[in-house]
Amino acid sequence: MTDRYAVIGNPIAHSKSPLIHRMFAEQTGQDISYEAVLAPLEGFAATVERLRKVGCKGCNVTVPFKFEAFNIATELSERARSAQAVNTLSFDGDEIRGDNTDGAGLVCDIQQNLKFTLQGRNILLLGAGGAAWGVSLPLLEAGANINIFNRTTDKAQQLSHGLQTFLKRDLYTRKGLKYGLPNFLNSYAELSSKQFDFVINATSAGLTESEIPLPPGIFAPGALAYDMMYGRETPFMKFAREHGAAVIADGLGMLVEQAAEAFYIWRGVRPKTAPVIAALRLS
Ligand code: NDP
Repeated sequence: MTDRYAVIGNPIAHSKSPLIHRMFAEQTGQDISYEAVLAPLEGFAATVERLRKVGCKGCNVTVPFKFEAFNIATELSERARSAQAVNTLSFDGDEIRGDNTDGAGLVCDIQQNLKFTLQGRNILLLGAGGAAWGVSLPLLEAGANINIFNRTTDKAQQLSHGLQTFLKRDLYTRKGLKYGLPNFLNSYAELSSKQFDFVINATSAGLTESEIPLPPGIFAPGALAYDMMYGRETPFMKFAREHGAAVIADGLGMLVEQAAEAFYIWRGVRPKTAPVIAALRLS
């Protein structure tokens, strides 16, 4: 019998997830269906319940429901707990397992597709919303040093402190793992004397074509400028092109890689992502 999956969001019509998962299913011979579901802004939990009742096995969650998905999960992965946000739910009887694959998707895109090493690199992470929370721990786990800056500085501070609290828990001490603690920056002025190996734009400024007032010398030699948005050149990408970033990338690779990680959670099979990224670039 065909297993059902879905992506829930508001808005959702633009989502490429149904196409991506259809390509994964075709490639791996998995018998699944995957649909886009629009949930009313006040109706996320009810939408999940309805999908569970009709036998849906899992769903992806996108803007603006990732924090609500975190709250309805009965079990959480470590990366979901560190992110305090969930983008992948799996349904098993009464259990609702929550995971967050955004960080794994970003790390995979940077290291495997773009061939940059994160270990020891200095990163400026712009933004402190759901996406920034989702990628912070995986970036630290990959050995990067992260500096967080957000237009609303309180939120950058909350993210930095939230991560520090998470990292100091005994789970990490017990494993003997040592990560650099995230640093947060207070103002655009503080950025003016600094250079970074990677500047990752996890803000939604590109959606409104807004420029982020970054200082011109922000890119270290050989730097990567990465915008999580995809589909067009954002003002951030244009700025990076004009101010010395060596490589400029959009978030399409991350989108496909985070979807592949969700597919693996649900199906236990890892699809090949390169042909899917290539097909989406052509579409
Ligand atoms: P949120 O709404 O949770 O957070 C938005 C963030 O952007 C906040 O930090 C906000 O700052 C900042 N921001 C918004 N407008 C501006 C602006 N004009 N100048 C500076 N900062 C601004 O969104 P998400 O974190 O969920 O998503 C962020 C982006 O990442 C979106 O574009 C989304 O599409 C993309 N994304 C891509 C993924 C992929 O797979 N490629 C996966 C997940 C997200 P403030 O706090 O000051 O309001």
